[in-house]
Amino acid sequence: MDATKNLAKVLADIADAETSAGRPAGSVGLVAVSKTKPVEEIRPVIAAGRRVFGENRVQEAQSKWPQLKAETPDLELHLIGPLQSNKTADAVALFDVIQTVDREKIAREIAREIKKQGRAPGLFIQVNTGSEPQKAGIEPDAAAAFVDLCRSELGLTIRGLMCIPPFDENPGPHFALLANIAREAGLEELSMGMSDDYPIAIAFGATQVRVGSAIFGARNTH
Ligand SMILES: *Cc1c(COP(=O)(O)O)cnc(C)c1O
Repeated sequence: MDATKNLAKVLADIADAETSAGRPAGSVGLVAVSKTKPVEEIRPVIAAGRRVFGENRVQEAQSKWPQLKAETPDLELHLIGPLQSNKTADAVALFDVIQTVDREKIAREIAREIKKQGRAPGLFIQVNTGSEPQKAGIEPDAAAAFVDLCRSELGLTIRGLMCIPPFDENPGPHFALLANIAREAGLEELSMGMSDDYPIAIAFGATQVRVGSAIFGARNTH
């Protein structure tokens, strides 16, 4: 498995999707999702020029990224998995972007930690576009009010919205729904699209895609 070869293909696909969608070249960011992968498999992807990475567990990220960030200071690390409130301080300390703000309690704790630490990660709100009971994310019809609360009451700067569509459904309508909610809330960034559907997400306006297995191969088991 050659991650840098896979990466080149993903970057070419992103460029093609940008062109097909009539969007400027380079307008879609790539978050390389390295969860379950050891640092030795991540280093070649950094050496190939990638700077933005995603991890879904705070503890796993703490065991991998301090050393990688020390080697390459301009890395940007995104939390893309659910955040437990007892991990909020660690997450605010380590991550540059938290994509999974999904409830009032966690938003309040993030706001408190930002004040305390004087460090403010970029924030995305996760929307449960399929209203799946087992999935994290704010309900679509509660999203606008939640964005408001984060901004006016908690003083948080929200960059955009993130979603993970139900795996067994056509993702297009979910991407369209997320784009609509963002437009109405005046949010510019859309984090949507994974290995199976990132070109579709780009057609629906994704500003960043989160791609794991198409770059790093199948996940290692924990
Ligand atoms: C694992 C994960 C990804 C990447 O998934 P792939 O299908 O391997 O590209 C993207 N987003 C989130 C939230 C994830 O947990």
